[in-house]
Formats: sequence, C-alpha cells, structure tokens
Amino acid sequence: MSKAVCARIWCRLPGNPAWTRLFMADKLLRFTPRVVFFTIDTSMIPTVMKFGGTSVEDAAAFGNVTAIVKVAAASRPVIVVSAIGGFTNSLLQSVSRACSGDARGATRSLDKDFERHLTIAKELLGKEAHAAFVSTIGDARGKIRQLHRIIAAHPVTSPPLQDEIVAYGELLSAQLLAMVLGESGLGARSVDARSCIKTDENYGSAAPRPETAAATNTVLMPLLQAAKIPVLGGFIGSTTRGVTTTLGRGGSDYSAAIIGAAIGARELQIWTDVSGVLTADPRVVPQARTIPVLSYQEAAELAYFGAKVLHPKTIQPAIDQNIPVRVCNSRAPKEAGTLIVSESGAAPQTVKAIAHKNGITTVQVTSARMLGAYGFLRRLFEVFDQHRTAVDVITTSEVSVSLSIDDTSSLEALRSDLRELGTVEVEDQRAIISVVGEGLRSTPGIAAQVFSVINDINVSMISVGASSVNLTFMVDQAQAAIAIARLHQAFFEARDAGVDDEMTQVRRGAPAVRDPEEVVA
Ligand code: ASP
Ligand code: MG
Repeated sequence: MSKAVCARIWCRLPGNPAWTRLFMADKLLRFTPRVVFFTIDTSMIPTVMKFGGTSVEDAAAFGNVTAIVKVAAASRPVIVVSAIGGFTNSLLQSVSRACSGDARGATRSLDKDFERHLTIAKELLGKEAHAAFVSTIGDARGKIRQLHRIIAAHPVTSPPLQDEIVAYGELLSAQLLAMVLGESGLGARSVDARSCIKTDENYGSAAPRPETAAATNTVLMPLLQAAKIPVLGGFIGSTTRGVTTTLGRGGSDYSAAIIGAAIGARELQIWTDVSGVLTADPRVVPQARTIPVLSYQEAAELAYFGAKVLHPKTIQPAIDQNIPVRVCNSRAPKEAGTLIVSESGAAPQTVKAIAHKNGITTVQVTSARMLGAYGFLRRLFEVFDQHRTAVDVITTSEVSVSLSIDDTSSLEALRSDLRELGTVEVEDQRAIISVVGEGLRSTPGIAAQVFSVINDINVSMISVGASSVNLTFMVDQAQAAIAIARLHQAFFEARDAGVDDEMTQVRRGAPAVRDPEEVVA
C-alpha cells in the first residue's frame, strides 16, 4: 500500500447522508492489510458550477458570474459554461446558410456574435488579455470561414462539420470566462472539454463513453491540486479519434453532471436566470415560490410541465452518484434555489408543486370489443406510433380508453384510423393539472383534499399511482387557472396565513383524523 495508490474511496461527508466517491485522500496515517486510515480535507472536494447562456450573455452577466465564483472560490469550483446566450442558435443557422451555398453570408451572419464577445472582452479584460482574446476570436473566425466554405462546396449537412462549428460557442465562452476570472485575481484555467468528455460518434447528440471519468480526472485533478479553477465549455466532447461532437441542445447541464460524477463533486450547481423550481407557474399564481428540496423523481415529473429549468436526463449522472443538484439564479445569487436529491426520503413534505399544461386534446376510444379481449391496447398504441404522436396521460375503463396528446398535427389521420377500433370522441381546449409530491405515496386524504377544493369544477381522466408522486387530472382549460389558484392557496398559502385546519395537517403528513359520524353526515 505504501506505493500503490487507493483509487476509489467511498465515504460519508458531513451534511450529506449518501456515500460519496472520493478521488483525493490527504494524508495516509497507517494501514493494515485490510484497512487503510487516512485523513481527508473535505474542503478539497470540488463543486461543479454550471452557468447557462443567459448567465453569460453580456459583460454585466460575466460580472455576476465572477462575483459568484469569487464567493465560492474556497469550495474548489470547477466551472462549466454554455455559449454566450443565442450564439448556438446563430452557429446552427450559419451552417444551414452554408449548406444552401452561401458561405460568405454564413460567416458574415456571425459577425454580431463575435462583436458581442469582443465587447465583453474590451469591458472586462486588461490590455494584454484583451489582445490575446482578440487573436483567439480572429482564429475562430478564420477556421469557421474555412468550414463554411467546405460545407458550401459539398452542400449536404455534414453532422461532424456542424459539430465542429457549433463547438466554437462553448470553446470561446470558456476561454473568455477563464480570462475574465483571471483578471479579477482568480487562478482560473480554460480547459478544452473535448479532452475530458469522450463520446460515441452520434454527432449532434453524442453519448458519453466510459473512459470519460478517467480522462476527466487526468485533466482536472492536477489543476485542482494546484488550487486552480478549471473552466470548461459545456455541450462538447470528442470521439476516441478526437473528432469534435456535441451532446444535444441544452447539453451543458449534461456535461456538468458528467463532470461532477467523474470527479465525485460535493454538489452540482446549475446557475440560470430563475430562482430554482417554483411551486406553480408564476403567471397563473403570482404567489408561487421556490421549492427548497425536490427528489429526483419529483423533478422529473415537473419537467414535463415546462419547468424548463432542467431536463431529468441531463442530471442523471449526478443523481446516480448521489451528488445533490442545486438550481440557482445568477441574477439573485443569495437566494437558495432548489436542491434536487436522489433519495425520496430527503424530501418528505406532502405536496411540492401544482403543475399544469394548457392546450391539451383528449381522445376517447370506446369499444365493446375491448371487454375481456387482449391485444386491443397494442393496436390502439400502434395507431399513435404510426402517426408519431406522443401520448401523455392515459386512463382506462372496461370498454373505453382516454388519452391526452398535445401535438394535434396528425389528429385527423389518427381519428380516422382509431375509428376502426371503436367510437372516437375528441375534446380540445383541455388542461392537465398535476399535484406533485413525495408525500402522495403515503399520506392518506390528499386526493380527497385536492378534489374538495375544486368540487365545483368538472374533472376527468384522473390518474394517480402511476409514479406515486403525482396526482394528475384534466379540466377544461378555461377553468384551469382558478383550479390551480385554489390548490396553491390550499396547499401553500394557507400555511403562511397560520390556518391550522385539517388541510394543513394533511400537508404536514399527519393523517386526517375524523369523527366517523361526521364522515357519515
Ligand atoms: N449552447 C448549447 C445550447 O444552446 C448548450 C447549452 O447551452 O446547454 O443548446
Ligand atoms: Mg440550458
């Protein structure tokens, strides 16, 4: 053991009940053939901080990021950054333009975005760093011009060339941010994320390969040990042969989670422009507030409702390693944001959010042939499959099935194919409302409470139990806002008003105790 290095150490850290994989032990105290004693300086465990495009859209935003990183400097930050806001879109459009044969126009269309980088550099960098960045931009422009020419000469979209071009968004933001941080006295180093995230060859939405963890540690650990702050572009990777790839739109969160999992981070912070995940849509419920803690499953349920903050797939690598994920607001960094943890036990409150989605169409298929038959549902779903229409909520009775869809582009074709299976009824202008919370698993009386608050509103397609953290139902879109407002009032605002009624007790997890006579009455 004196020479061999213990490669994987699992331990429990203060404040986190989960086992965490460590990559750095501090001092070897003593060892026996079976047990190794060592000290760990927990302050050495890194935190991954990811800043999205809106958090780096201009010089002021870069200033906010710098202030945030400064405060966090002691927590060994590893920074992952998106392209500056809107640049990825511009780069993709430039590729289409080059594809249509207009190479010159394609390159020119990026001028304003290069200018934005230069303005930020001019405002925030000293003379020397500024000059270095001007030449970085010049090189990038030159390479992109060449690539546009190649594409225009062979006008089929070439996925590897597209990724090569689009990657400049993150390559440039990482270099610029490292320089800006350096300018304010932080020991930041820009790292080419392509040397860490190794992927398959699925250009445009590549998946990480297993060697990513080792590659990432090889690159980042020496920097962290030298107390440097690595700054990596999100979204990008490279194949084993070294060809640039991208992980799919919004892929910077994914990069951050992959890197966090690889280095055994203490926490993954996703810095964006909202203060975490809210209890309801603030346009419907102005009193909506940030949810302090969510389980991964709750967060995944909420993602469907356009809580556009996170796609559950993107944080999976962190969740798998029990790394807590925190969603923070780079414009209001003092707000705690929302913490997402893997274990449901850590998020016990009854109801966390009232989510909804308007513009839903329901399709009901009724057929006596369904009774006691098998294969009926398969044929039904095949129709949706053929017309590439995603189904969201499903409820069934013995002779009918109701399904909800939000994409109605193939509705007429669907309807005519479904008629071969039974009578079809379609209703549009519906809204899905979901009451989401781990407490739904175990607390009696919640469904009764939900429906009693909206007992004058017509409810259909009730679905509960499928995920056990979600009670979903459908209402008329015109009544959605009032239903949501009342549910929010009952489950969240009543508490603040100090109303300690039965509802408050249910919400706290206490069983609703009732006098049996009262129930009968
Ligand atoms: N810049 C990339 C995009 O806009 C990746 C990201 O921001 O997450 O999709
Ligand atoms: Mg994003």
